[in-house]
Amino acid sequence: MNRKPYIAGNWKMNLDRRAAVALAAALREACQAFTDRDVAVFPPFVYLDEVARTLAGSKVRVGAQNMCDAANGAFTGEVSAAMLLDVGATSVILGHSERRQLFGETDEGIGRKVRTALGAGLDVILCVGETLDERNTQATERVVGRQLTKGLEDLTLDQMAKVTVAYEPVWAIGTGLNATPKQASDVHTYLRGLLAGLFSPKVAQATRIQYGGSVKPENARDLLTSPDVDGALVGGAALKPDSFLAIARFR
Ligand code: PEP
Repeated sequence: MNRKPYIAGNWKMNLDRRAAVALAAALREACQAFTDRDVAVFPPFVYLDEVARTLAGSKVRVGAQNMCDAANGAFTGEVSAAMLLDVGATSVILGHSERRQLFGETDEGIGRKVRTALGAGLDVILCVGETLDERNTQATERVVGRQLTKGLEDLTLDQMAKVTVAYEPVWAIGTGLNATPKQASDVHTYLRGLLAGLFSPKVAQATRIQYGGSVKPENARDLLTSPDVDGALVGGAALKPDSFLAIARFR
């Protein structure tokens, strides 16, 4: 199956309003010609509205970096799926390793968020990935398998059409150490096999699996043309138009 590459920029807690809008405006123009790849940006919550307006009608989709698993109510400091849709977001990243490690998010809680997001009509990027310790103790498949299974629990085959998986080895995020194309490919192939068992071979073939972890213009081509790698989730290199676009134009 010919899966369309999907390149997404996770801006994390970076940029200010002016820089966020300027970056969005630069991507808007540069991505107009893209027909054979999808591009999305994930700004901080407070800039979503303005970035989404800057990118309205363009080829660049806009999403959030997190959301609440509840629809509304007394959840101080949280943001709901309906609020994201209301300001023009169409997607959400869930289960990023920084959420898991720094904010105590669990596989079960992430699964609830995935169900809430899809139920509300958002697309989802579900992140999975092992720590260095887990890789060194041969636990990678067990860990990413558990994260995938719990994160996608109770989804229908139809809902899976709105899910992208991002394999992001924790040891490669923000460290400058990327997985080799073979290391990435091996895990992606493993995850695709799991998807076939959890859902169906058709779903497994259709689901895009991004690689994330120190993707840069210099390594994008090798990583993104590896078997079973369908694009990238980019952190640091997504903060400047030149580096993000060089990755998005990997071929
Ligand atoms: C990320 O946090 O999703 C990420 C991949 O970051 P970086 O590209 O900076 O490693």
